[in-house]
Amino acid sequence: MLKRNPLCHYCEQVGRVTPANTVDHATPPDRGGDFFGWDNLRSACKNCNFSKQDKTEDEFLAKGCGADGIPLAPGHPWNMEAASG
Ligand SMILES: [Zn+2]
Repeated sequence: MLKRNPLCHYCEQVGRVTPANTVDHATPPDRGGDFFGWDNLRSACKNCNFSKQDKTEDEFLAKGCGADGIPLAPGHPWNMEAASG
């Protein structure tokens, strides 16, 4: 999976390029996601995988944005980047 898609899928959504070092399930298996389905797998960096936890991909990425377009969720990759400088 990481060979196929070596960059973090979630960071890409906010315009960042981060090497992926984990593989995440877009929809967690315990919430009905397909454990082995390629369509359900996403390359992810450790930060994103940890923050996403048992959220689905949509829940993780679509928490809403402020007027400036910056996502409101504190755990969103965009805000993690801002927080770490
Ligand atoms: Zn990431």
